[in-house]
Amino acid sequence: MNNGIYLDYAATTPTDGAVLAAALPYFGNVFYNPSSTHAAGQAASAAVERARGLCAQAVCADPNEIYFTSGGTEAINWAMRCSLDGKKHVVVSAIEHDAVSACARMLKAEGVIVDRVKPNSEGMITPGALDRVMRDDTALVCVMTVNNIVGSIQPIKELAAVAHRHGASFFTDAVQAVNSVDLNVRDTDVDMLAVSGHKFYAPKGGGFLYVKRGVRLSAGTVGGNQERGLRAGTVNVPAVVAMGEAISAAQAGVAGYCESVGAVSSLFLQTLRYGRPIRCQAKTPDIVSVVFDGINGGRLAVALSCVGVYCSVGSACSAGSATPPETLVEMGVDHPDCSVRFSFGKTTDARQAVIAAQTVNTVVERFLRDKA
Ligand code: PLP
Repeated sequence: MNNGIYLDYAATTPTDGAVLAAALPYFGNVFYNPSSTHAAGQAASAAVERARGLCAQAVCADPNEIYFTSGGTEAINWAMRCSLDGKKHVVVSAIEHDAVSACARMLKAEGVIVDRVKPNSEGMITPGALDRVMRDDTALVCVMTVNNIVGSIQPIKELAAVAHRHGASFFTDAVQAVNSVDLNVRDTDVDMLAVSGHKFYAPKGGGFLYVKRGVRLSAGTVGGNQERGLRAGTVNVPAVVAMGEAISAAQAGVAGYCESVGAVSSLFLQTLRYGRPIRCQAKTPDIVSVVFDGINGGRLAVALSCVGVYCSVGSACSAGSATPPETLVEMGVDHPDCSVRFSFGKTTDARQAVIAAQTVNTVVERFLRDKA
C-alpha cells in the first residue's frame, strides 16, 4: 500500500510483530493437525490448549468455556442459530452489526418472532427499553458490547440481568470491545460472547465463542469431533495461537490503549474544522463517526482515499451499500447519509491525526466550493 494514513482500524488491524512471531512456527515446522494423536500432532494440540487458556483468562472464563471459530461472524451465527432450544422469541438491538441483524432476519424467515430494541439518541440500549420488549418465552437477547459505528459502550451487565429476569439467555458481540473494554464474563454474567482476532492485532481467520457452562448450545458445524464435538473442522492453529497472545496483550493494555488512542482521536477532532462528531453517553475513544452536512459520506470517503486518508462510511461488511449506517438512523441522527467513520489504532500517532484532519478540512472545503 502507499504511505497513506489508515483510519479504519475498526475494519481490521495489522498483525502485531510479537503475535506474528508466536504464530509463525505453526505455519512451519509445527504444522501438524492438533487432532492427530501422534506426538507431532500433540505439539500442535498443546499450543491450541495454551491459546485457549490465554483466551479464557483474558475474559475471566474457564478454558472449557472457549470454542474456537473462524472469526466473529461464525461465532455470532452459531450463538444465535443454535441456542434457541425450540423457543420462538428473540430480541436484538437495532444497532447490531450485519452479522447479527442478518441472522435475526434469517431466524424471522424461519418463523421465530424477532423484536428490536432501539437505542436512545446517545447510542445506548437502556435496560428499561429492553425490559419493555421482553416476553416470558424470550429465548435470547443480543446486544453488542461496543457499537462498530459510533463506539458506544452498552451497559452489558444490567442488560444481561434484564434478560435473565425473564428467563432468557444473553449474547454479546464483543468484536469491537477487546482493545478498549475490560471483559469479564463472570462479572457481566453474559451467557455467550463472541470475539474476532483480526480486530485486536491478530491475523484474520480466528475468533472464539465463549459459552457459559450449563448453557445449551447445539453444534454449529458437524463433521469431526473438534471443539468437544460442537464445531467440526480442523482448528486453525496459527490463528488461534496468535489470538491467544493478542487478546492477553490487548486486555492487559486497555487503560494505556484508551489513553493513547484517546489522545490521538481528540487531536484529530480538535484539528477538524467541519462536521458534527456523534456523541454517546459512554464510548470508546477509537471509533468516531462525523456527519458533514450536505456532503455524501460515501463520496467523501472516496475523495479522502484518493488523497491518502483511508476511512469508511460503515462496517467493511456493508461497504458498497447505498443506505446510511443503521446505527445512525436508529439514533435519529440528522443526515446519516453524510457520515464518515474514522477509527484509530495503537499505531496511529499525533502527526498522522493532525495531517489526516487537515486533509479532511481541505477535501470538505473543495466539496463546499463545488456546491456553491
Ligand atoms: N461484529 C462487529 C461489531 C464487527 O465490527 C465485525 C466486523 O467488522 C463483526 C462482527 C464480524 O467479525 P468478522 O470479521 O470476524 O467476521
